Amino acid sequence: TLPFDVAAVRAEFPILGTEVDGRPLVYLDSAATSQKPRAVLDAERDFLETANAAVHRGAHFLAAEATELFEDARATVAGFVGAAPEQLVWTSGATAGLNLVAGSLGYAGRLREGDEIVVTEAEHHANLIPWQQLAARTGARLRHIPVHDDGTLDLAIATDLIGARTKVVAFPHVSNVLGIVNPVAELVALAQSAGALTVLDACQSAPHLVLDLPKTGVDLAVFSGHKIFGPYAIGALWGRDEVLDALPPFTTGGSMITTVTLDKAEFLPPPQRFEPGTQPVSQAVALAAAVRWFGALDRDAAHAHEAALERRMREGLRSIAGIRLLGDTDAAARVALQAFDVEGVHAHDVGQFLDSRGVAVRVGHHCAQPLHRRFGLTASVRASAAIHTTEDEIDTFLDAVSGVRAFFGVGA
Ligand code: PMP
Repeated sequence: TLPFDVAAVRAEFPILGTEVDGRPLVYLDSAATSQKPRAVLDAERDFLETANAAVHRGAHFLAAEATELFEDARATVAGFVGAAPEQLVWTSGATAGLNLVAGSLGYAGRLREGDEIVVTEAEHHANLIPWQQLAARTGARLRHIPVHDDGTLDLAIATDLIGARTKVVAFPHVSNVLGIVNPVAELVALAQSAGALTVLDACQSAPHLVLDLPKTGVDLAVFSGHKIFGPYAIGALWGRDEVLDALPPFTTGGSMITTVTLDKAEFLPPPQRFEPGTQPVSQAVALAAAVRWFGALDRDAAHAHEAALERRMREGLRSIAGIRLLGDTDAAARVALQAFDVEGVHAHDVGQFLDSRGVAVRVGHHCAQPLHRRFGLTASVRASAAIHTTEDEIDTFLDAVSGVRAFFGVGA
């Protein structure tokens, strides 16, 4: 097989030509939001220039055109995760999808006092706070699967924890801090033997792994468009037919009903039941362009490229004195995302120093305060690569990191 043509991929991203104070931008913050290839920028603009109209209503030419493009986009994005179109609900992002699921389960009265919701210690707040709120409102108890020192989940505790009281098991496919691919099959098996619903946060796996959500065995999953080369303000909730069918609407309004009287309303089946209001049509069309563009790459070669970046980044960081990696393990599959602490230097100072070298990383708690607390930190630095990242960029990053402690006069 041919090596992955990273130069050709880079040429698709106009923003990668940016210079930061005369240095080439090294964008290592794709886990926060991905950059957008031309195909996506063009698709959104094309739609707005040629087909823009509100969908599912209006008898005019443009409305029909827009509706067709919108529903085609649904089929394309569903296909990207191995699903059928009617199983894919548009949301404004993963956060909205998770709130939809937790809120709908609450409305349905599916949780009561004595029931348990199980999450992990490695959640993004988006897959934690909606469950905290649901627990607080229903009297259910929120429990968590701890992580080992190497960042992997403690499956022995998970086995003890998940049982007859468990109604929901929610977990990240890939943690946005640790970069570790969690054992989906094992967690699904535990949840299924307890009769619990499984909810997968696929935000950080979708940009890196080929997903077949129905095959994973989970019941519901969410992801965000802006992290998979698509636009902001769109994402998706995927659910099994029978699981979505059994969920009542969460947010309500126009476009999701069959008949309405002044007293009550009857609702459309999924996915429209969960899509009230005017839809994010240009965003859906552009997200479809994103997954079409991404899906057309040689994904095996792209994966090998990213695996090489991951090794280079982790091994390079390991060899720098005073660096502590979060989720440093060879015992699990990983994506090219690495959080770390520089002993004696605040993460924000590290970020600023790297920025002065043109290197863009994320600093802070990455919306995962409990996980940082678990490691005795309040903040860390996170570098996250994408398919357009080169080995030279990783080396620029490593070179900059190796100068941090000397610059701040620490540990010399
Ligand atoms: N879960 C994970 C693992 C994430 O990384 C993020 C985004 N940082 C989210 C959920 C929330 O996604 P969004 O902000 O796009 O709704």
